[in-house]
Amino acid sequence: MSDCLFCAIVAGDVPADVIHRDDDAVAFRDIDPKAPVHILVIPAAHHATAAELAAADPAATGRLLALAGSIAESEGVADSGYRIVTNTGPGAGQSVHHVHFHLLGGRDLSWPPG
Ligand code: 5GP
Ligand code: ZN
Repeated sequence: MSDCLFCAIVAGDVPADVIHRDDDAVAFRDIDPKAPVHILVIPAAHHATAAELAAADPAATGRLLALAGSIAESEGVADSGYRIVTNTGPGAGQSVHHVHFHLLGGRDLSWPPG
């Protein structure tokens, strides 16, 4: 999609610290990390929200979550614990309208979130 920052990262037009790339997913470090490990896991295809992605392609949604889990292992936070967050809509603070799963770990994560 034109004018989408994360489509531009998928295309390689905007640089990012990419830690995983395959035909249907990209994972890269958040530019403004909120935890020692803060990685964004996104589908290559443009969908605005997790619900829209899941409705359009449930299998891809599952693969993204599996990828997030394997990245948690490789980043060393699987045992200590981590959080997968998907902000949806303005009230939840979604600022980029290309669905992304935040993978957060490496510190204690309080609950409930703000
Ligand atoms: P949201 O606010 O939509 O839940 O999350 C968007 C995330 O994208 C934020 O955590 C923000 O720091 C990150 N972000 C915004 N612009 C860029 C960028 O150009 N590169 C990277 N790597 N992350 C970005
Ligand atoms: Zn996009």
